[in-house]
Amino acid sequence: MSDATAIRAAGTRAQEMIDALAAISADSDRLTRLYLTPEHKRAAELAGTWMEQAGLSVRMDAAGTMRGSLPPGRPGPSGNKSLLIGSHIDTVIDGGRYDGNLGVVVGLLAIEALKARGEALPFGIELLAFGDEEGVRYPITLTSSAVAAGVFDPAALDQSDRSGVTMREALTAFGGKPEALAGEAYQADSVLGYLEVHIEQGPVLERTGAPLGVVTAIASQSRHRIRIKGEAGHAGTVPMPMRRDALVAASELIVGIEAIARKDRKNSLVATVGEIEALPGASNVIPAEVRLSLDVRAATDEARRDAVATILSFARKTEAVRQVALTFETVLEKPVATCGPRMMAAIQEGASRVMGKPAQQLLSGAGHDGLSMAHLAEYGMMFVRCRGGISHNPAEFVTVDDMGAAVEGLVEAILALARQEAAR
Ligand SMILES: [Zn+2]
Repeated sequence: MSDATAIRAAGTRAQEMIDALAAISADSDRLTRLYLTPEHKRAAELAGTWMEQAGLSVRMDAAGTMRGSLPPGRPGPSGNKSLLIGSHIDTVIDGGRYDGNLGVVVGLLAIEALKARGEALPFGIELLAFGDEEGVRYPITLTSSAVAAGVFDPAALDQSDRSGVTMREALTAFGGKPEALAGEAYQADSVLGYLEVHIEQGPVLERTGAPLGVVTAIASQSRHRIRIKGEAGHAGTVPMPMRRDALVAASELIVGIEAIARKDRKNSLVATVGEIEALPGASNVIPAEVRLSLDVRAATDEARRDAVATILSFARKTEAVRQVALTFETVLEKPVATCGPRMMAAIQEGASRVMGKPAQQLLSGAGHDGLSMAHLAEYGMMFVRCRGGISHNPAEFVTVDDMGAAVEGLVEAILALARQEAAR
């Protein structure tokens, strides 16, 4: 069935739905849809309407996630279980239209295709349209999937957005139920697994000329704060050899961090200094203090820890040579979240069938809802090629044919799971 015509037809429908969702924004000139806003509500309701039209029973859960469920089509060993399929419908500020939204649309179209083809699955399906993956409005991310997975920390309800509105207040106004969140967690023994289709947000698939790829894991990640203290002085009077310029020390460190990260290609190591602040910040004063952020990610926890240790020892050398005082603090550490073997095999089979060649496996450098869902069940992800690897940007773009391939790939992945069940 995965011929070019079916792929084009599925992709065309996906594009229409993506465009309809993209029209729902807080701003008229750009796409901004944050958690628990009126725009989020409208997008969730639209997704709910589509789910109903596809014949799913729909409800909004206490966290504002739209859930559409399809009962099993035939008995089997997992007849009491559901395959969860989902992604998020929130966006960053001035975001792209495919990030997250594509996963919900593709999930829905795959369910529709399975029904249209009369496939009777030996397990149920629950489609989830999560409202908070990006974590733009509140300091935490993955609120919706954490609730579904039973790993939500209720302390987050007391966090405020920039206008001073707490998550508890926003959730209540939205129609959610802060007091009922704990009861929304799936029971682990009722879940077959979690599948998500998402744009790659990187350039690998485009470079290899493949529309679809199989995610192996979400990278190990840590964030750090580095503070370098030198000595302020008059830009005109302190001779060069007598300076302890914190910004020059920071520059050496940044270049060193890049060199360290470039050395480890095998473990997909990446290290980024994304924020820098120089104090006092005047054109005629030698910088006395510099604050930097550091983000390190790799395919394994060990590779990431090794890289951080190497960066730290390089930083100590810079500190000594430049005669500055350096502090290095770890503010976040997330272990690698490996995809489950059954879900990965199903995605591998589905994507490979549609492409007519073995699908490439790749690491996700970005975090996704799978990070929370991994606490509940095996998870698997299929990546879809996006132009230039650009994301979190209005220039984000996926072709109609690639979206169609994603729908067919997910259909084939679900059928592969059904065959696995039959063989058990
Ligand atoms: Zn996303």
